[in-house]
Amino acid sequence: PYIIAEPCVDVKDKACIEECPVDCIYEGGRMLYIQPDECVDCGACEPVCPVEAIFYEDDTPDQWSGYVNANVEFFDDL
Ligand code: SF4
Repeated sequence: PYIIAEPCVDVKDKACIEECPVDCIYEGGRMLYIQPDECVDCGACEPVCPVEAIFYEDDTPDQWSGYVNANVEFFDDL
């Protein structure tokens, strides 16, 4: 799946939510999260993010690698 990383924190622009064809981007306390089991890897969200917070999980920059799990764990805790 695609994931959302640190640039989203305290931004939550939500342009991605408008683009997602399967409505799998959800709002958390300080950022948005992608539900990994629902994401269909279409990539539509990535270019519309104004802060470039969205990455295909394997392309996530090393300094934000922890956000791959953060997107999974957000939904585990619901
Ligand atoms: Fe939604 Fe597509 Fe982005 Fe996955 S890649 S979160 S399906 S817009």
